[in-house]
Amino acid sequence: PDSVSPETRATPMMAQYLDVKAKNPDFLLFYRMGDFFELFFDDAVKAASALGIQLTKRGKHSGEDIPMCGVPVARADDYMQKLILKGFRVAVAEQLEDPELAKKRGPKAVVRRDVVRLVTPGTLTEDALLVSGRNNFLAALAKVGKAVAVRYHIAALDISTGEFLLSEASAPDLGGELLRLRPAEILIAEDELGDGTSKAAAEASGAALSPLSRACFGRAKGERALKEAFEVAALDGLGDFTDGDLIAIGALLHYVDLTQMGERPALRPPRRDEPARLMAIDAATRASLELVRPNNEGAPTVFSAIDRTVTAAGARELMSRLVSPSADSGLVNERLDAVAALIEDWALRERIRHILKTAPDMSRALSRLKLKRGGPRDLGAIRDGLRAGGDVAALLAASPAQPAHLKQAMTALAAFTGDDHGGALARKLDRALVGVVPFLTKDSGYIATGFDATLDGLRELASSSKVVLAKLQADYAAQTGVKTLKIQYNNVFGYFIEVSPGQASALMGEPHSALFRHKQTLASAVRFTTDELAALESRILTAQGDALAREQALFAELSDAVLEREDAIAEAAQALACLDCVGGLAEIAQVQNYVRPRVDTSRAFLVEGGRHPAVEQALTREGGAFIGNDCRLDGAGERAPGFLVVTGPNMAGKSTYLRQNALIAVLAQMGSYVPATSAHIGVADRLFARIGAADDLARGRSTFMVEMTETAAILNRATERSLVILDEIGRGTATFDGLSIAWAVLEHLHDETRCRGLVATHYHELTRLADDLPRAGNVRMAVTEWKDTIVFLHAVEVGPANRSYGVQAAKLAGVPKQVVARAKQILAQLEAGAGPHGPLTLPTDMPLFSAPVAHHATDAPHPVLERLATLDVDSLSPREALDLLYALKKEL
Ligand code: ADP
Repeated sequence: PDSVSPETRATPMMAQYLDVKAKNPDFLLFYRMGDFFELFFDDAVKAASALGIQLTKRGKHSGEDIPMCGVPVARADDYMQKLILKGFRVAVAEQLEDPELAKKRGPKAVVRRDVVRLVTPGTLTEDALLVSGRNNFLAALAKVGKAVAVRYHIAALDISTGEFLLSEASAPDLGGELLRLRPAEILIAEDELGDGTSKAAAEASGAALSPLSRACFGRAKGERALKEAFEVAALDGLGDFTDGDLIAIGALLHYVDLTQMGERPALRPPRRDEPARLMAIDAATRASLELVRPNNEGAPTVFSAIDRTVTAAGARELMSRLVSPSADSGLVNERLDAVAALIEDWALRERIRHILKTAPDMSRALSRLKLKRGGPRDLGAIRDGLRAGGDVAALLAASPAQPAHLKQAMTALAAFTGDDHGGALARKLDRALVGVVPFLTKDSGYIATGFDATLDGLRELASSSKVVLAKLQADYAAQTGVKTLKIQYNNVFGYFIEVSPGQASALMGEPHSALFRHKQTLASAVRFTTDELAALESRILTAQGDALAREQALFAELSDAVLEREDAIAEAAQALACLDCVGGLAEIAQVQNYVRPRVDTSRAFLVEGGRHPAVEQALTREGGAFIGNDCRLDGAGERAPGFLVVTGPNMAGKSTYLRQNALIAVLAQMGSYVPATSAHIGVADRLFARIGAADDLARGRSTFMVEMTETAAILNRATERSLVILDEIGRGTATFDGLSIAWAVLEHLHDETRCRGLVATHYHELTRLADDLPRAGNVRMAVTEWKDTIVFLHAVEVGPANRSYGVQAAKLAGVPKQVVARAKQILAQLEAGAGPHGPLTLPTDMPLFSAPVAHHATDAPHPVLERLATLDVDSLSPREALDLLYALKKEL
């Protein structure tokens, strides 16, 4: 009757496993088995190889061995983190009942298990899984509109802090926008994986891609989810939302719901990053400048060079300002005012920073409490954070200088110092918790004595019962005359009375046998109990259990009290983060001698004595000194050119110069002091920087094509307000091609776009641009010759470089002497207007070649004659001589 052979039928446990697994196919299933999480089948194979742990087997399924691996529950976080970093997602299935209960249902009954949590790169909350100084965004991408009108809407949420951002980008800006947000995970509609733009941009951002079904993306869904999340009937109070916003929000909140099993994270009201109020920085520029992500692992970034914050939240705030410089000079100046105040009053800064060092990460603690994943330590973090905030508020209140941002921070922090609800909460936490709180709610003892009378009573009962025990023991010893009688405790019997075998008879005979009941006889001891002892025991155990339960109830009550003031606490956390960020900026400015930039809506870019923040620190560490350099760029008004062509030999410092000026713009617009002796920056709406060889061969495109694509992007998007910084434009193709393209691009940027620009080139001919174009000028990297080699002075001088130092550089690099000598000879000939084998032929339609072209004028000797005159016959091979003859004949 039973057609299934016993081998192919799954055991009840396996049946349960397969059922749970079928519901979570895209996740590695961590299956709780006692003290281990076990993985089976393919999951086990993948996890064992990713974690480098042993793959074994357990039982059979359909006649085959089942591959299995396991990790101890106590260390599961570490393993999960490794898997998440490698791009896996994890589903955690817990035992949902006491195994003892399952046994009661029958010998074959399986403990109930189900998934309690999905762990994905973008939904982490545990400190062990997160990078403290970095936001961990989950972003949903919604594409709306068609063809040229297409817009990408992004809703991003850091579940671990509650920060909730909205933004949007056109197709060409999407890459830069995703690199700005740097999400850990991107949600995208399945059917959009075919959309080249979103897929490429998402992949380039380094985030894990999670496709969701199209059904998760819907305007009405988004609206409903948003209303539910903020418990409002209408969205008006939260802001204006476009259809695109709501579609992205819908997908985002759906996924949060899915992974958090319905628990609501601590959401801050959505904040919109208006593209128009930010300095737009595209993906290639971000890669060039290494703001927060180095191109080579472990190398310094701008962030690492300027970060002097003392808390993780402060570091996150600094990072967020650095990746999103503002284009709003009003905001920039408010930020600069705050930095200035903390530079001026360094004693105040010192005190604030000293207090901040004790301030824990309140926003992450708050999020865990909200997701019901918090413990006593998170309450402790809120207590300590509010306490630190109160101290800082008092310091700020006493300080005379109060720029807007410091005042705002003070107000947010002072909310927990007064006589009202906020102050009451802070005082309540102070009274409720012991100094150092344990991690988990099941570890009792975190509620302080004196906070709750019921708890104190239960604890009293538990400990006073122990006094009663001692008294009982003394009573029994006196009654029986057995002085060595002891009351003992073990896990099997609980409390019992123990005497040596020789004295057992005293308890077993009259009149004591009515009182003492025999329990156990061992070689070394005989054990008894009494009704009184049993009653006392149950009182002690009940009191301990009741105390723990009471403590947990108080934990829940305190959590609720905290969550009631969720928004105000999040604001206080943000205020501390802001103060730390501003304090850190003041610190670096003072220590590294930065200057406050004048930031306004002019078109100035006037930097004196500018430096590169990271290169300067590296040089100083090695005992060197960075040479500060001016950069004077300005369209109208002041008499500096709007465009500078930078020339100079390799290694002279051209790229450093270009980068430092791009960074000075970024730093100024993020609201930081800048490494310079003075700076006047009219806000740039967009920054384009292409510096250093962007090796894109891995993506199968030639360097030249990459460069042209990027050049096209700049030409199409730069405006009069933009700052464009280009290194070696037009390289990677034949000289004349490259030169012609470079020339035309610069002409366009100069005449049509009219932006501010800095361009480094090895095409010396480009320096003649300045003669033709009114807004263009030349600067060169100063070098000097010494004993036939060149010395780099790293100083920028006005004017074109007079010659190429490539030949000297070749010598420095160890190119053999004869080759260098021959190169010099050729160079001399070239500079005299002739090629190594004759005169240079140049296209005549390019204005810059008007000079060499003069050689063709009628009074000059015939090119073939001239070429013959300069020909070094001895250096030709027979083959070359023959080729040359043919070539010459053609020219007649
Ligand atoms: P290029 O782009 O012209 O080849 P780089 O900008 O890469 O040259 O600079 C070469 C090296 O010179 C850098 O590694 C740096 O150490 C040093 N350098 C550049 N600019 C300066 C400066 N202003 N002061 C001191 N050293 C500098």
